[in-house]
Amino acid sequence: MKIIEPHIHMYSRTTDDYEAMYAAGIRGCVEPSFWLGANRRYAGTFFDYFMLILEFETTRAMRFGIEHYAAVSFNPKEAENTKLVDEVLEGIGEYLDHPRCVALGEIGFNNITDNEEYAFKKQLEIAKARDMLVIVHLPHFNKPEGIARTIRCIREVGMDETKIYLDHNTEETIETALAETKCYCGMTVYPISKLNPQRVSEIIKQVGSERMIVSGSADWGVSDPLALVKVVDYMRTDGHDEQTIQRLVFANADAYYRQCPKWQPNLDMKPIDPHEFQR
Ligand SMILES: [Zn+2]
Repeated sequence: MKIIEPHIHMYSRTTDDYEAMYAAGIRGCVEPSFWLGANRRYAGTFFDYFMLILEFETTRAMRFGIEHYAAVSFNPKEAENTKLVDEVLEGIGEYLDHPRCVALGEIGFNNITDNEEYAFKKQLEIAKARDMLVIVHLPHFNKPEGIARTIRCIREVGMDETKIYLDHNTEETIETALAETKCYCGMTVYPISKLNPQRVSEIIKQVGSERMIVSGSADWGVSDPLALVKVVDYMRTDGHDEQTIQRLVFANADAYYRQCPKWQPNLDMKPIDPHEFQR
């Protein structure tokens, strides 16, 4: 089965991860921009990072047979620095225009503060004006309050919800996300925090697979670039049909990103012999 990993931070992963992903059937991925582990002090650091995930990471993935796209944004974790938010958003246009940039994201709430709302809404306005897809991060704590405030911001800006991938849903938010919005709804599988394959399987039994997307969201933390493979394996043993599984790990993500004309993934690439890499 071919798999698309719709949310993963390959910047923090190794070439071993790329090899294992290819071997397990992952053929395409999207890398949203994120917090780098320490708060950035300069707008230029953001711009260099955007170029890195838009160009270098795409090349690195291609060598291992995986089509890689990126999304750029000012992430929620650094949004208390509103001066930096303004400086980065002033210059973000050329990176959003980049041929490998398929969405603006990830944006949203972390600690659910007013400054985070400022950065979130400002970026929703940018995406709306550019008719772009948006990857939205739901906070990991206080989820019911987080999703309520997230939906309020989306409504206030008047962003087209079918262009939003609302990620990091759990049992606490998924019914609200599906019933009250038209967003694609993401669930994240992590080895320790967030969801595991068993919980994903249960949620899908309850709400179905329409508009549902699963990701591994692997980054610097304890996370798993093969999380989706584990979801496929578990769901096969838990009574789900192949079509449901295929929707969750491939077709829905493909349908979502296909709304962006730049998403033209070649999912039949072959890895290149490392001896042949051009420096
Ligand atoms: Zn992420």
